[in-house]
Amino acid sequence: MKKIACRRCGTCCLKGGPVLHGPDLTLIGQKIIRPDQLVVIRAGEPAYNPGPDAVEPAACEMLKIQGKGSSWECLFYNSAARGCTIHDNRPLECRLLQCRDTTAILAITGQDCLTRQDLIKADDPVMAYIQAFEQCSWPKINTLLLLLSPESIQEAEQMLGIDLRLRQEALSRLHFSLAQEFFYFGRPLFQSWNHAAVKLTWDDNNIPRLKRC
Ligand code: SF4
Repeated sequence: MKKIACRRCGTCCLKGGPVLHGPDLTLIGQKIIRPDQLVVIRAGEPAYNPGPDAVEPAACEMLKIQGKGSSWECLFYNSAARGCTIHDNRPLECRLLQCRDTTAILAITGQDCLTRQDLIKADDPVMAYIQAFEQCSWPKINTLLLLLSPESIQEAEQMLGIDLRLRQEALSRLHFSLAQEFFYFGRPLFQSWNHAAVKLTWDDNNIPRLKRC
């Protein structure tokens, strides 16, 4: 297969940073990439899948380089210079990506993905909170949303509240930054909400509410 030279258009870096795989663990060990520069995509969370080119529930937990503010532009992308600030040590996906031939990158999608357990010690106090988030996991929410009954929607709504409460509790006890929160717990459920039939709104007390469209 003929390799086509990168024209440094930056499109791939602007669309989002890579998911990390087993070989990228050395980049964490060498502190080229810090955990608080990652965001966890939890199993079942709506996420972009390059295979079908669609947003769908993530098949497994993944760690992805964070974006900038509300955009997914890779944290390591220097848009003025149109270059990668860690180019010589860029993660596996970035080394494999050829925008006109995605065969190599699709072959590793969902394979040997790094998870939080690879980076957090088992006795770290944050692990108890990570386990507590199973009460409001995406697989549970996705199952409830398949039913689309008033009861199941109400239960899913309660999980949105649990997700926010657990974050507040963990933050008040462990005092971490927003960037660390994204690594430990991922984006709040409301931020990743993406359901055609169940709309997310907020009531006057700033409580998330779900409504069938
Ligand atoms: S790590 Fe570098 S090459 Fe990879 S998406 Fe980010 S800026 Fe682009």
